[in-house]
Amino acid sequence: MQRFQHYIDGRFEDAAQTFPSIDPATGESWAEMPEAREAEVERAVEAAHQALRQGEWPALTATARGKLLYRLADLVAQNAGRLAELETRDTGKIIRETSAQIAYVADYYRYYAGLADKIEGSYLAIDKPDMDVWLRREPVGVVAAVVPWNSQLFLAAVKIGPALAAGCTLVIKASEDGPAPLLEFARLVQEAGFPAGVVNIITGFGATCGAALTRHPKVAHIAFTGGPQTARNVVRNSAENLASTSLELGGKSPFIVFADADLESAANAQVAGIFAATGQSCVAGSRLIVESSVKGRFLSILKEKSEAVKIGAPLDMTTEVGPLCTARQRDLIEEVVGRSVAAGAMLVTGGKSPDGVGFYYPPTILDCSAVKSPSVERELFGPVLSVLSFEDEAEALRLANDTPFGLASGLFTRDLTRAHRMMKRIHAGVVWVNTYRAVSPIAPFGGYGQSGHGREGGLAAALDFTRTKTVWLRTSDDPIPDPFVMR
Ligand code: NAD
Repeated sequence: MQRFQHYIDGRFEDAAQTFPSIDPATGESWAEMPEAREAEVERAVEAAHQALRQGEWPALTATARGKLLYRLADLVAQNAGRLAELETRDTGKIIRETSAQIAYVADYYRYYAGLADKIEGSYLAIDKPDMDVWLRREPVGVVAAVVPWNSQLFLAAVKIGPALAAGCTLVIKASEDGPAPLLEFARLVQEAGFPAGVVNIITGFGATCGAALTRHPKVAHIAFTGGPQTARNVVRNSAENLASTSLELGGKSPFIVFADADLESAANAQVAGIFAATGQSCVAGSRLIVESSVKGRFLSILKEKSEAVKIGAPLDMTTEVGPLCTARQRDLIEEVVGRSVAAGAMLVTGGKSPDGVGFYYPPTILDCSAVKSPSVERELFGPVLSVLSFEDEAEALRLANDTPFGLASGLFTRDLTRAHRMMKRIHAGVVWVNTYRAVSPIAPFGGYGQSGHGREGGLAAALDFTRTKTVWLRTSDDPIPDPFVMR
């Protein structure tokens, strides 16, 4: 059985307690993970705090920080295959996706490496004579980064990259489900040469490790990705330390198809939008909103493509849909699909877990256009598509925005003016027009409403890890006049 360790203050170490990690393809435990509780969290935060305040890290120029990030990027690229295999083993996410995604993660580090010495303060044209006033941008402080189990290396990179570019230090809490890739990534942090304590990586359970970390008095900012209910707990925890928060939460994203769209292309994008990563994607286009006149045709194309998907072992390069990460997730999906069918939703395809080992669930399409189905409201985080239909643009928009979430959306039409009208009115942080599931380090990403706040990616994300200091410098040698008048 493979054993993993925490990375605290530049050293690899065991925790006082461990827990098993389960291989989702077999349901068997395959590795032993260290479990951080209060004591481990305390040491990790203290290490990050010390590294922020003294020693090498705060003395480095921004350019030197950038060089370390470039080194990390190269190491991620060189080790992408190995990390991808670990992520696939520990989370069930297919190797085709993890290998491509991790290779691209290197570009996120490169982007923030280049940005490190371009984070600028400003000089103010102040309304007083003999006074120079400027704003410095300083690191916000110790960052607690909490990530969910899907795409952990990616979700950590969009926090680590900008936080280090800004000069912060971090404690990263890997999810208790599938923490292996992040714990292994710590070896690359060490090899890149970051000073001890700048990046600390631990794992443990939410109620113990996550709570202790997010309420710790020395944490200044919490960068959280996960579900909305957990986010509420995290925000409550932040009432203790008054840390700022950025929240990347879930979604129930609309995928709108107008009759004039290229249906073949839209169907491919819909398959990517809901079945890639076995639907375990925050941006899953889980509500298909299709114009009534093409609904039958579109569903038959979609059904054919869904039934052709290759389900199999996640480490097999030809597999397209692997298992879900946990049995808990599969059981939840099964339960909600069952209730939806009982409520009158029509099963177009899928809907039943196969016999045998592993946490598998097939690509599933539910036609919910004539009923109120639980599958339409709840984020399922699995390969389940709920179908709704509309008669005109106004109804499409109403259905699209009929959710408390607002993370992503897809819009398929050849009508450019309509695309512009709709794009402005869709209540979501990302609108993809005639494409879906595209991301880049250059493009900010984040949600509206219950999908959270704050943006990851782009320049704005690095600024979120800074705070401004206003410096006033009097340039006159004359004595200060009347001390009882505010100047
Ligand atoms: P989750 O909310 O259950 O857990 C996320 C993390 O929070 C885990 O590391 C967990 O241990 C930790 N946690 C749990 N309770 C905590 C507490 N009280 N205090 C501090 N930390 C705590 O999420 P999950 O089930 O692992 O992942 C699925 C969710 O993540 C979905 O809702 C999905 O949409 C969302 N997600 C969002 C994005 C995005 O960028 N918007 C990306 C991926 C996943």
